[in-house]
Amino acid sequence: MIIVLKPNLTKRQENSVLREIKKLGYAPHLMRGVARTVIGAVGDEKKNPSLETLSSWDEVESVTPIQKRFRLVGREAHKKNSTIKIGKHVIGGKKVQVMAGPCSVESEKQLMETAHAVRKAGATILRGGAFKPRTSPYEFQGLGEKGLKLLAKAREETGMPVITELLSQSHADLVAEHADILQIGTRNAQNFQLLIAAAKTGRPVLLKRGMSMRIEEWLLAGEYVLANENPSLMFCERGIRTFETYTRNTLDLSAVPAVKQQSHCPVVVDPSQGCGRADMIITMCKGAISMGADALLIEVHPNPSEAWSDGAQQVTLDVFRKLMRELKPFIKAAGRS
Ligand code: PEP
Ligand code: MN
Repeated sequence: MIIVLKPNLTKRQENSVLREIKKLGYAPHLMRGVARTVIGAVGDEKKNPSLETLSSWDEVESVTPIQKRFRLVGREAHKKNSTIKIGKHVIGGKKVQVMAGPCSVESEKQLMETAHAVRKAGATILRGGAFKPRTSPYEFQGLGEKGLKLLAKAREETGMPVITELLSQSHADLVAEHADILQIGTRNAQNFQLLIAAAKTGRPVLLKRGMSMRIEEWLLAGEYVLANENPSLMFCERGIRTFETYTRNTLDLSAVPAVKQQSHCPVVVDPSQGCGRADMIITMCKGAISMGADALLIEVHPNPSEAWSDGAQQVTLDVFRKLMRELKPFIKAAGRS
């Protein structure tokens, strides 16, 4: 930690800060500059108590930690990119994975039609919400267990692994029994008990970014998964709340290189919740690939205008096929396959 002292302290005041630093288990090194005196406190910030309490002392101007607060998701713990195996697919490897399917599972017909079409177009993982986190209690809440069974059936028919959202700790085993990847939604991104329950199922976890979450908070939320002995974590940027209303959220593509710099975990981009507009999905996917995303999560519906949730942002089967064609040169240019 670096502690900057306020100017014009007496020797006695300086010594009281030095004593406190030693008491907390650090070796203080005093550096006298022209305008300020700075103390470098050497010691393991993970083993000793934080010196941040000193920032409220009269003698101290600021305290800056040097070590990162996350341990397992960080690149310091694991230099190489980590990969997650889902059946025969690898997330975080050379191949960009495309997860596609409806926002909500509505019926067998809707799901099967979508699943077959997206697979044929090149998607590798099927998405679909069975338990839906709706802002209003009067909106469609998902088919629940029936939706999970349909997803499992679609996996059987198409061979595609399935991703679906886990909304509640009490559903953890049920959802894990039917799904290959558990999605933790934006509204639950800091529901730590839910993250622990998801981790403990042993299934890979896709952690959406909370809509008002800073990168560090997001990484720390992910830390809960790794700290609960589940190494299969991916982060998913899905847009954050800003002052802008043209789009549903502001898809923060800078989060892709930011998380990649800090963490070894794969990064996924969801342009559907990200901008909330079907007419921007292809462009945002091209952007996401160019930024280095390892996978995309895209909402696709056979008839978006009749969708039971998120109709404005779901692309048709035709647009999805066009998207997959148009992405090819971007995937190649990004050095991926
Ligand atoms: C979704 O994927 O349909 C969804 C509800 O996502 P988010 O949690 O990002 O809003
Ligand atoms: Mn949705």
